[in-house]
Amino acid sequence: MAKIVFTVDVDRDAACAAPGEFRAKCKHSIEPSFEASYSGFRDLLGLADSLRIPAVFFFEAECVSLFPDVPDMTHEIGCHGLHHEDFTGAETNAPITESQRLGLLTKAKEILENRFGSKPMGFRAPYLHHDSALLQLLQTIGFAYDSSVMEGKKAGPLPELFLPDLKDAKGKQTLGYLWQLMEGNRSVEEYLEAINSYKGKYLVLSTHSWHSRQTMKKKLSEQQAKENLSKVKQLLETLKERHEFVSAGEVLG
Ligand SMILES: [Zn+2]
Repeated sequence: MAKIVFTVDVDRDAACAAPGEFRAKCKHSIEPSFEASYSGFRDLLGLADSLRIPAVFFFEAECVSLFPDVPDMTHEIGCHGLHHEDFTGAETNAPITESQRLGLLTKAKEILENRFGSKPMGFRAPYLHHDSALLQLLQTIGFAYDSSVMEGKKAGPLPELFLPDLKDAKGKQTLGYLWQLMEGNRSVEEYLEAINSYKGKYLVLSTHSWHSRQTMKKKLSEQQAKENLSKVKQLLETLKERHEFVSAGEVLG
């Protein structure tokens, strides 16, 4: 039995880097779209509540500020950037300076505090792009932990909720993301096989809020979205029989 932390990145629909820009774009539209993200967030929140699984939601602050509402939540909240920035510039080729990083993340943290009435505890870098200066800065801003680094790689000064070095049944690196399940390239059974044979101390399982309603290729119908959500439900329910779902705090000590 392993301890599993279920995490959800709540960001703009099919978020991807825009060359030369801080702000992310959506794969399918020039104008940012948050519809699939909002509906999917509500779906996953309902699912976690009904299965009594503690979850961590890492929110892009601009995204959540445009949601029509946010419910009272018993789950932990974290920060996933202000506009889903590529902080290192690895994909945008537009690196963000130290003082810009401080301004963007301080604002993101404030927006989340105002929207939820509680502090975001953890941070997850958009695209997981980080460097040692960014990990240092998180401590200055007042986050309690980071979750952008894969196990075996160098973490910063804060406690690190490591992403697993989890390969799927076909040998592809997943980092614990349900990406290939949501894109229809892997089955629930294949994910179960990979997770059940994972040998780490704990496993962070992650998905994106929009991904059950919108793949990188297209928007899904209500029926397809239901089917995708039911795959996540089946996976979590089956894992719950053998493993223990816990909060981030429980594995970070
Ligand atoms: Zn993201």
